[in-house]
Amino acid sequence: MPPADTRTVLCVCCASWFRVPESAMVLTCPCCYKRVRVEDITIDTVDHRHRLETCGVLRVRRRAILNAGELRVGAAIIVEDGGRVQTRTATSFRLQLHARAQWAGDCEAAYLTIDPGAIIESGRFTITPPAQMAPPASGALEIITRPSPALIARPA
Ligand SMILES: [Zn+2]
Repeated sequence: MPPADTRTVLCVCCASWFRVPESAMVLTCPCCYKRVRVEDITIDTVDHRHRLETCGVLRVRRRAILNAGELRVGAAIIVEDGGRVQTRTATSFRLQLHARAQWAGDCEAAYLTIDPGAIIESGRFTITPPAQMAPPASGALEIITRPSPALIARPA
């Protein structure tokens, strides 16, 4: 059993899973040594952002609206019942849309969970093998080709 006061995040730079203290916000990835944001982010009002990036979980609550140009989220994007996301492009390991969640925008994820009653207004959805999830940051191309069996073995 993992320690109770830690959580698992997926590095948005190198697509490696690692554990962080529950309250950690920014730290250095133990695999690629980049400083990355690891905090879980909860949107519970109306939020406009150019770009939102974290290795943790992005959660959009009931009646919240997130309008973001680009979402790069490691572990998961979860849109709760009545939450709404409008984005140009989103990448995450997992996208979960609960009933009556609303989504607009392209999404690339290894897992999609769409409950009955969720509303997809627009967007192109791509299922991506987890090992290929990290887009090439400058100089990081070698990391993408590295196999990531840990990603595939991890239970959702
Ligand atoms: Zn990393």
